[in-house]
Order: sequence, then C-alpha cells, then structure tokens
Amino acid sequence: MALLEEPIKEVKVLKNYINGEWVESKGEIIDVVNPATMKTISKVPISTREELDQAVKAAQDAYYDWRRTTPLARTRMLFRLKELLEENFEKASRIQTQEHGKCIDESRGESRRGIENVEVACGIPTLMQGYVSEDVAHGIDEYCIPTPLGVFGVIGPFNFPWMIPLWSIPYAVATGNTVVLKPSSEVPNSQQFLAELAEEAGFPPGVWNVVHGGRTVVGGMLEHPDIQGITFVGSTPVAKDVIYPGCGKSGKRVIAQAGAKNFMTIMPDCAVDQTIAGMMTSFFGNAGQRCLAAANAVVVGEDDDFYNEFVAKVVAMAKNIKVGYGLDESIQMGPLRDKAKKQNVLNYIDIGLKEGADLVLDGRDFTVLGGYPDDCFVGPTVFSNVDPKSRVGSEEIFGPVMSIMRAKDLDEAIKITNENPFGNGHSIFTQNGAHARYYQYNVVSGNVGINIGITAAMAFFPFGGLKDSFFGVLHTQGKDAIRFFTDTKVVIQRWF
Ligand code: NAD
Repeated sequence: MALLEEPIKEVKVLKNYINGEWVESKGEIIDVVNPATMKTISKVPISTREELDQAVKAAQDAYYDWRRTTPLARTRMLFRLKELLEENFEKASRIQTQEHGKCIDESRGESRRGIENVEVACGIPTLMQGYVSEDVAHGIDEYCIPTPLGVFGVIGPFNFPWMIPLWSIPYAVATGNTVVLKPSSEVPNSQQFLAELAEEAGFPPGVWNVVHGGRTVVGGMLEHPDIQGITFVGSTPVAKDVIYPGCGKSGKRVIAQAGAKNFMTIMPDCAVDQTIAGMMTSFFGNAGQRCLAAANAVVVGEDDDFYNEFVAKVVAMAKNIKVGYGLDESIQMGPLRDKAKKQNVLNYIDIGLKEGADLVLDGRDFTVLGGYPDDCFVGPTVFSNVDPKSRVGSEEIFGPVMSIMRAKDLDEAIKITNENPFGNGHSIFTQNGAHARYYQYNVVSGNVGINIGITAAMAFFPFGGLKDSFFGVLHTQGKDAIRFFTDTKVVIQRWF
C-alpha cells in the first residue's frame, strides 16, 4: 500500500506558547528525527528557566479571570476544541506516527483516547458539583465547594505524544486552573499542534501554555512557588527520585505515573487462539513502548505439550508481523523511538542470552519493509524459559521483547507477578470465572485485565498503577482528575 501523506513537510524551529503568543526560545535547539526515515522533521528548543518563569507568570495572571469564567463558558471552549480535534483527527494521528514511529492505526487509537478525555471534561458543570448538609447543628448548614487551585505543571513522556497530556489538561482547565505543559522533547510536534487547536478553540491567553525543554524546565516547575501541582508520566527513576520528592519538598500535589513490567498469566483453560492474537498487540503494539505493554507471559501448569504449543504458536504469529514505516497502512509494527532505545533493546537481548534464556525468535534478524534505514528498528523478539528474577524477566525493557516463563499453578503465577517491583497492568487469560476472580483479588496491580492484554482505562475511569509504577494518591482521568485539580473548600454558615 502507498504511504499516507506526511503532515510535517518543512523543518521548522518550534516555538513556546506563552500567554497566547508563539515565542522563540533562547535555549539550545535540537533536532527531532523521524525514527522510520531518519529525516529531521523539526527542531525543538530546550527552554531556559526564565522562559518557564514567564509561562508560569502568564498562567498565574490568567488564572484570576479564568477561575471567574463560569464552568459552562469554560466547557463551551472544550466543546469547540472537541470539534477541532475531530476535524483534525487524521492530521494529528499522522503527526504522531511521523514523530514517534508508531503505526497509523495505533496513532488513530491514541487520538481517539485523547479526545475522549476532552469529552469527559465537557461534563464539568455537573462533575464539579459540591454537596450540602443542612442543619449540621441547629440553624447551621455546611457545604463543600470544589475550587480550582491555580497553575499546574504537566510533564509528558515520549511514548504517547498526543494522548498523555490530555489525561490531565482538559480536567485542569475545565475546573478553572491554568496549565504549563512541557512535552517530551523527543516528540514535541503533537503538543505544538494541540496548542494551536486550543488557541483556535478560544482559550484565553495564559490558560494553556507550552514550554519545550528538558530537565531545566522540569526542575523549575518543581521549585516554582506558583505551581500548585504537577502531573508527570515517565520512567520510574525520574518519577521516584526527582518528581515525587521534588513535589514533596516544595509542597505540591502530585500524580507521578511511572514504568512497568506487565505479566500475562496464561491458564491452560484459556481460549488459546484469541489469547495469542491478543498477545501480539499487547507485546508488540507500539513496538512494546507502552506502559501497559505485556512483557512477560507466565504459562501455568505442568503440561509440557501445552507450553510448547503456546511458544510455537506465539513465534509463528510474531515472526509474521510486518515491520516498517507506520504511515504505510499495511505495517503492523514501527521502529523504536530512537537509536539509543534500539541499543537498549539489543543490550537486553544479549543479557537474556547470557542469563541462559532461550531466544526462540531473534528480533535482530528481520527485514524492514519498504527499505527504510534500520537505525531504530528491532523485530519481534521472544525468549522462552525465562527466570522471572533475571534482568530480562524483571526489568522494564520498553521494546518488542516477550519473555515466556512457567508457573506450576495459579498461586505461583500470582506470586511471581507480585514479587516484581512494578504493578501497572497485569492480566489473566482463562475461561474459568473462579480463576479470574481469584486472580483479580490477589494480584497487586493498579489495572487488571481478564482476557484483555492492554488494560487501558477509559477516560471516565481513573488511570494509575501501584508500587514502582505510581507515586501519588489520586490518578489522572475521570473523577480522580477532577478531585486532583480542585480543593474541597468546606463552608459552615449560620445567619442571625
Ligand atoms: P522519562 O522519565 O525519560 O521522561 C519523561 C519526562 O521527564 C520527559 O518530559 C523528560 O524530558 C523528563 N525528564 C527525563 N529525565 C529527567 C530528569 N532527570 N529530570 C527531570 N525531568 C526529566 O520517560 P520517557 O522515556 O519519556 O517515557 C517512557 C517511560 O514512561 C517508561 O518507563 C514508561 O513505562 C513510562 N510511562 C508510564 C505510563 C503510566 O501511565 N504509568 C504511561 C506512559 C509511559
């Protein structure tokens, strides 16, 4: 099939969006490279602390009026944004593929998930209501008003350039706060485009700001006295050692969503063909660069035939995955985001071999369809007989690597899963309700799948994890996000 049109045609230096103006940064400029073609598609500034401070000031100044804008009026801007997102659905999806490498259908899914958060936030006039108790004492009433807090910082990762900031921003602005977003500098074009649409939707200057950059901007956000809270999505070391303690030190509320190592428990009573088909998208979709990607398949039981058949079927299906540039609709897996991420996966393949796992499908030996440079590509990789405590079996690889391991029974599968430090999205595959219920009850995971390989919560449910996958209390999306972005002011009143 022919390649879909690339929406970014000209290499431009991206600008920050501060106080309703597109402003050139004085920071260092770095290239954003399409990982499938290895062509530079844009240049992004690594903004300075002063530029962050200007954005926070604009957001703080805008807050006073924005807070007084009625929820209904704020919602109308979100409805307008939703229309623009629909009109630009295909363009937004192609930008994601062009800058990240994921397949176009994966990008379309990402665009849809982002829009759904705008749709949920459109319900803010009712979702943000407080509650009242009449006569808490004689003639005294008490009520609670969810109130916005001010400026919030939003920090995105590279793997979902469009959707992840939308887990936060629609709720933040719908509830009357203002935001400063720092997109991942690896994939900044999607958020640049989203801010253009927000501008067109009519958000007043200063309500929605974008400052491109890296650690300087993040460090500035953590310290800034006018930033009330931060939502962060990224790796565990940064969430655990930088964001969470940084917010604690400066007294900010925080949602820090972090890394993962997701275990799929395969019961002998599962629907085998559907399970294996589900495994393909879960392990290899987005080239394994999802926090909800499956990493380990734990095959339960002592039946060698069942295990061997499972491994053989997985390998047969995985080796037929078409790898290439995601703007070709026939492609099923794109590249890793950059050369360093590919090298990281290659290192883990070496580690797995040294640890004694069986490499039953070698992702180093594959063909990139369409003749694209293979700098960032790795093919689907499958290890069998993996020790869950080995590095390959326990650490986040964030690439298309499947580790298959065995457990003698369901209890052992749950024990193996729970011993891992992460707890983001574990799943069981079974046709037995009692097994499913036992698993759901005992597995320690923020999200649990039952015959579902990617446990991505809908926008009207909270999304977070447990253990080393999450630092904070409330989650992004849905009612949790509304609580995170508001304080519950309690008023007690009597009249004489
Ligand atoms: P990352 O931690 O490298 O970067 C995330 C953000 O933090 C980026 O904006 C980056 O510029 C900034 N950053 C990086 N290092 C920093 C530092 N030392 N100090 C301050 N800021 C820093 O993560 P990534 O590689 O962009 O994203 C992949 C990771 O995100 C994976 O671990 C994945 O599991 C995780 N993730 C988690 C979820 C979730 O919901 N739990 C969702 C998506 C991705």
